[in-house]
Amino acid sequence: MTDESDSHNIVILGSGAAGLTASIYAARAALRPVVVGGSQHGGQLTLTSDVENFPGFEHAIQGPDLMEAMRKQAERFEVEFLSGDATSVDFRRRPFQVVAGEETLLARAVIIATGAGTNWLGLPNEQRLIGHGVSSCAPCDAFFFRGKEVAVVGGGDSAMEEALFLAKFATKVTIIHRRDSFRASKIMADRARRNEKISVRWNTVVEDVAGNGQVTGLRLHDVVSGRKEIFKTDGLFVAIGHHPNTELFRGQIELDANGYIVLDHHTMTTVDGVFAAGDCHDHRYRQAVTAAGYGCMAAMDAEKYLEARHG
Ligand code: NAP
Repeated sequence: MTDESDSHNIVILGSGAAGLTASIYAARAALRPVVVGGSQHGGQLTLTSDVENFPGFEHAIQGPDLMEAMRKQAERFEVEFLSGDATSVDFRRRPFQVVAGEETLLARAVIIATGAGTNWLGLPNEQRLIGHGVSSCAPCDAFFFRGKEVAVVGGGDSAMEEALFLAKFATKVTIIHRRDSFRASKIMADRARRNEKISVRWNTVVEDVAGNGQVTGLRLHDVVSGRKEIFKTDGLFVAIGHHPNTELFRGQIELDANGYIVLDHHTMTTVDGVFAAGDCHDHRYRQAVTAAGYGCMAAMDAEKYLEARHG
């Protein structure tokens, strides 16, 4: 592809709830979008099990099934999919350029929906037990811990928020923090401390998570006393931060101090014609349904932009 006449109207980067929703809206506006699906096709929801808070499903739907259904819906409107990650973008030239594997795509508009990744602890058995007691999303999974005991790792606002949410369901929540003071804001830390169900293990590092089919305990190391123990628990919530998948765009669009994309107006980034949807810019809500909502908004904004610019 060499010039504007060879350009795609819209290239969408990411195939999570934001990217797929954007593709459905763009395709139904006859814009023939191309989706660069990324290495984790379907996004973070493919890492969860039961999704009970996505409207429209009376009974839980499995995260991977939800994403499969969204993809099939997009395919019905002839959305074109490329697998793999975008490896470089050039938003300084027009049409924009996106390189994905062997392909170089030109686009009049780009929607970035690359999502965010959970920071995991990197424990030997952590990945194996995701969805079986290991989680990073209390609003998604707390319900399954009704009447059970859980641990939360981290000392920031996310850990406080997860612990407070979990305390509505679990009988006991233990925050495990590697230091002797929280990084969390005072108001959040105080809220957690005041909650009777929540207790704190200071100066403690989780070395591994135990369990065959389901989490049964944690191997803990008290870094002050040197004591090691097996701590019985039904679940481990990892809340040590997220990282938006935005490194590829650094230097071309504005990112905030934590790497989240800054929106200029509505869903448009600081480059005219480049839009963002979902967890790559949203550090506040981070839900499947809000990501889908942002995907819809970005597609509608992109459509208006193309109409105004290209007729
Ligand atoms: P954060 O503030 O970076 O805190 C991460 C926590 O995880 C820190 O306590 C850190 O310990 C711990 N940690 C990091 N790596 C670890 C590891 N490998 N092993 C054990 N512990 C580890 O991240 P966050 O809590 O996700 O918050 C991110 C931003 O979003 C913050 O600006 C926060 O204020 C904001 N936020 C706000 C709210 C709210 O206001 N409602 C809710 C959530 C998030 P150390 O302290 O020892 O470094």
